[in-house]
Amino acid sequence: MRQPVYVYKGPELAAYGFGDPHPFGPDRHDVFQTELEAAGLDGAIHYASPRQASVDDLLLFHTPELIDKVSRLSAAGVGFLDTGDTPAVPGIFDAASNVVGTTMASVDAVMAGETRRAFVPIAGLHHAGRGHAAGFCVFNDCGVAVAYLRDRYRVSRIAYVDIDAHHGDGMFYGFEDDPDLIFADIHEDGRFLYPGTGSESETGTGSARGTKLNITVPPGADDNDFARAWARVEAFLEAAEPEFILFQCGADSLAGDPITHLCYTEEAHASAASSLCRIADEYCDGRLIGTGGGGYNRRNIARAWTRVVKSFVAAG
Ligand SMILES: [Zn+2]
Repeated sequence: MRQPVYVYKGPELAAYGFGDPHPFGPDRHDVFQTELEAAGLDGAIHYASPRQASVDDLLLFHTPELIDKVSRLSAAGVGFLDTGDTPAVPGIFDAASNVVGTTMASVDAVMAGETRRAFVPIAGLHHAGRGHAAGFCVFNDCGVAVAYLRDRYRVSRIAYVDIDAHHGDGMFYGFEDDPDLIFADIHEDGRFLYPGTGSESETGTGSARGTKLNITVPPGADDNDFARAWARVEAFLEAAEPEFILFQCGADSLAGDPITHLCYTEEAHASAASSLCRIADEYCDGRLIGTGGGGYNRRNIARAWTRVVKSFVAAG
């Protein structure tokens, strides 16, 4: 029997944002959910509710100093959590904890066998490091999810795959020396885009050397460039044989995003999602979680994320 794809939805997730006119506005959740509902996938999707992470959950990945800082500045509601990209809006501590808790809830749903694929739209906050917020990312839900899979479920060999336009630096440097975190990231060349990291020579350190794949594409890269890069990701993942896949499918790599320079269409996201379903079926008992990541053109978010969910549904 086919299981429904879990899609997380609710005001607690929508609340993660930095207000108008910040590019990471709280309307991103609703534009996606509206497009998804219009796709007519009823019956193939189960809408699941957000959950809040506890401080102990956050500590699986983050330092107590960061958690204290976010808590304090969230209560004050003024200033920045980093050097100027990520404002300390009132309530951001709870909102960011809800993003982390929801990605953890999706892990629980998959590990309990309730579903094999799940999608969490306002997650994939890949710039947050263990000890700092950065680039609109307060806490790193995928970082916590990796630690949680290991701590709670003894699943250690985990692939993190990232097609957001920006390098997933919080994940890369958070696990740079970890040989069981398989990292594959296609992103715009750091000479042209924040955060400037992720050169192809960065492949992991120490015993983790060779477990990380950074692929840079130039400004203007299109679906053909993506397909060539993706073939390398596929071969890398098949050789690595992970037990679980986390997919960060940022929509800011589509043409028309206001803060990046890549020119994919949503076909890139659809084909990557289908490919990961196949790989997850082969190595991971199908276990695959998608997180929305970035994306600042509302139409692109709605289309790209909906196509990811459609690919999950089509793969069964
Ligand atoms: Zn991004």
